[in-house]
Amino acid sequence: MSVKVRFAPSPTGKLHVGNVRTALLNWLFAREQGGEFVLRIDDTDLDRSTHAYEQGIKDDLMWLSMGWDSTFNQSHRFKMYEEAAEKLKKDGLLYPCYETADELDRQRKLQRVQSKPPVYNRAALELTDADMKAYADEGRKPHWRFKLSGQTVTWNDMVRGEQKIDTASLSDPVLIRGDGSFLYTLPSVVDDIEQKITHVIRGEDHVTNSGAQIEVFRALSDHLPKFAHTPLLVGHDGKSLSKRLGSLSMDELKEQGLEPLAICSLLAKIGTSDPIEARTSMEALKDEFAFSKIGRAPARFSEGELLLINGKLLHERPYAQVKEHLENLNVGGGEAFWNLIRGNVSKVSDAAGWSTVLYSPMPGQIDDEDKAFCAAAADSLPDVITSETWGAWTSTLKTEHGRKGKTLFMPLRKALSGRDRGPQMGEFLVLLGAEKAKARLRGQTA
Ligand code: GLU
Repeated sequence: MSVKVRFAPSPTGKLHVGNVRTALLNWLFAREQGGEFVLRIDDTDLDRSTHAYEQGIKDDLMWLSMGWDSTFNQSHRFKMYEEAAEKLKKDGLLYPCYETADELDRQRKLQRVQSKPPVYNRAALELTDADMKAYADEGRKPHWRFKLSGQTVTWNDMVRGEQKIDTASLSDPVLIRGDGSFLYTLPSVVDDIEQKITHVIRGEDHVTNSGAQIEVFRALSDHLPKFAHTPLLVGHDGKSLSKRLGSLSMDELKEQGLEPLAICSLLAKIGTSDPIEARTSMEALKDEFAFSKIGRAPARFSEGELLLINGKLLHERPYAQVKEHLENLNVGGGEAFWNLIRGNVSKVSDAAGWSTVLYSPMPGQIDDEDKAFCAAAADSLPDVITSETWGAWTSTLKTEHGRKGKTLFMPLRKALSGRDRGPQMGEFLVLLGAEKAKARLRGQTA
């Protein structure tokens, strides 16, 4: 059977690094297997879902190069969910409950005091028709719970190995609220069945849900996908992801100048046995993907590492691919400029700083003890500068002033660029030009 997976975000917010990772793992697996990647929009919560969030999610996935083979909205499929609910009711597996939120809360408190687990007591199963009529006459609307078997559900998780969930330790899940709206569980299972989803890949916060969901699957059909629950993201220190990092949206990352491939490279590699390295295509990430590489330990997400990978990608990037971005930043200088500085940026926007260094009037940085040396260097710099100039000029300075290594090169670099590290100086000097170079070496603003 060919692979079919789904990424199922709720359009009640923006995509953040955590759910982008889930999307990516689904996408990589689908592509690696030559299968299908379905984008399911979980918008049954009509109050909180918006078209703007849905569009934002789609734009983000496209920006990240994670195209989908098909997409649909759960809000268009209520009829199917109602039919499934009817079947469960008929089979005695979906039962009405009339407790209010307050009553349930009180029950849980009582259970806590008695050191009992906070599991729903199934009092509603004892209600007689007369009890229910009395509630209905009071105007109470029932919510509906799925009757778990009380058995242990087992499955072989593709990441976690054999899993056992004792459904006797769980509350019967509410599938339909008092206002008739569906919670996530039933629509999700109905769609996974109807779409013949072969693998459900999601975060390990869903492991317990899967125990209950597998029973709903079995109650409705013979179809049961395989499950893969991946460890959650944590910060680089191994502690849970800070609120800020956890909610980092793609907009923010884009705004900060992060490349989609840097984000995908990092999210594809953390928590796996592969080294964390930049990859220059989604194709490469796909070829290297395997569930067997995903470990049980949480995946460490660090912004520092993201920046490092971003830089690595830019160091190789041809000018044609950044031309437009540089133009938007108002950074001129063309290809020669980009090739000179690309090894020294971690974001494209860092180019602006180097552009200022080269093309805006700026004083050099000269320490007192290097003043005479720099002035003499200005005098011996030829008026026409080529790629060979730097080598010839510095070797003359070396013999004439008895300086070498750092004491020879650092004062020149600082005087010419105002910084103590940066691009290769030979080409830098060519782009800077003799006039500006001489002036800066003499301590002038140029
Ligand atoms: N909408 C659910 C979520 O975002 C989907 C979970 C699932 O993949 O089944 O948590």
